[in-house]
Formats: sequence, C-alpha cells, structure tokens
Amino acid sequence: MTRTAAPRILRGIPDGIFTLFFPDDCRICERPLTRWTRVPVCPDCLHSPAPLEADYFCAACNTPFLNPFPLDEKGLCAACRAGLRGFDRAASFGFYEGALRDLIHLFKYSGMKPLGRHLADYLLRALPVDEAIEAVVPVPLHWRKKWQRGFNQSEVLARAIAQARAVPCVNALRRVRPTNAQAGLGKTARRRNVRGAFAARRGADLDGKKVLLIDDVMTTGATATACGLALKRAGAKSVSLLTLARVDRRWRT
Ligand SMILES: [Zn+2]
Ligand SMILES: [Zn+2]
Repeated sequence: MTRTAAPRILRGIPDGIFTLFFPDDCRICERPLTRWTRVPVCPDCLHSPAPLEADYFCAACNTPFLNPFPLDEKGLCAACRAGLRGFDRAASFGFYEGALRDLIHLFKYSGMKPLGRHLADYLLRALPVDEAIEAVVPVPLHWRKKWQRGFNQSEVLARAIAQARAVPCVNALRRVRPTNAQAGLGKTARRRNVRGAFAARRGADLDGKKVLLIDDVMTTGATATACGLALKRAGAKSVSLLTLARVDRRWRT
C-alpha cells in the first residue's frame, strides 16, 4: 500500500508499520528479494546509481557540456557569467536516469520515506568535503502537496545531511503561492513560473550564513534560483545547491 493511496485515517500511523516489506520482488529490477527489508529494492539496485560523468562542467554550477566552448577562461557557463543563478555553486550526484531516477520516484511518489537515508548517502558523496556550511535548508513543498505526499522529500534529505554535518536543518523557506508543475515547461517558462514563489520565513536566522540548499532533482535550476534569491534577501552570505540528480540537457540545445 502506498501512502498516497492510504485513506486519511491511516496517515497518522507511524511509517514503520507500512515500510517493513515481506520478501517480495524488487520494485526496480523485479527479481525476488531474499530478505526482509524496509525498502522493497534489492541491494544491487540500491547501489547501482553512478556519479555524474561528462568531459566538461561549469566550474560553478556543474552543468555538463559536450565541449568546452560554452565555458569562459574561468570555466563558467553563460548563465553563471550573466549572474542568472540565485546560488553560488551547485553539485549533484548523478543524472536523472536509470536506477537513480527509479529510486527517486519510489521515494517521492510511492511514499517510501525510508529510502531517504540511502539517497542521503548519495547526496553526501556529492557534497565537497571542504564545503563550509552553517545551515541546511530544504526546498519547500506547497502545503497541499506535502499533505498529499505525507512528507517533503527535500526535507527528509536535508535533515540527514544536517545530521551528518552537525549543522542545523532550518525550514527557512515557504512557498508564497502554489506554482504549476515545472515538467513540460521550457527554460524561460520555468523561470517565470517560480519567480517570487518563495520567501524566507520570519524569524529564520540566516544573516551572514553559508547555506546549503537541498532539492531532489535539478532541471534548469529555476526553482533553486528562486529559492537562492529568497535566501539571499534574508541575509544568507552564500547559497550552495546540492541535488541528488540533474536532468542531462546536453543534447537539448
Ligand atoms: Zn533490484
Ligand atoms: Zn554555470
């Protein structure tokens, strides 16, 4: 039973009851699972996501490119040069495809919250060890979506990162208006869709802080930019973005 399909009355029951799976088939490769597990995914699928690979990356936002021509002598892409990013740096573990995409889908849309711990390990692998952070902030979900899903996937990930780095996890952002789904929109439409959609919560103490912003997937970076700008308006000194996956747009130019 997925949590989204659960009647409202069941929502208050602790996750553990629903997330201990009898040996069944792996939800990704469909081979039988041989052990009891809190996530219905076999160890092979759990460990198969591969880190990002490309020959050229922007030095700041880590966008992959097919050749070095979009990058200037400092290694920056056009968006970073033009100051179009609301964040200072970005890192992602892998491309939004294959097993990583399947795991994110199970986590997000099938309500498999215990997958968050495994996915957070991938985030930690992508976070540069020397990255100084003073607060971890998740990209917020609109309350209606959070209620439907039962949790904010970015918040689950952010809490795990904050714990691993011994810094506070701060729910510093809120959605000031619901936005349309970004899927299917072009780059400019995405930017317009989320512009001004986020604001810092009153009382969120970010003044002069180096903030790590967490999201599950980065497509064009429009959402992260809108969040980054809100964090900076609230006084954040710098904003680094860390996502599990990013959409590979190298062949879409
Ligand atoms: Zn499997
Ligand atoms: Zn860039």
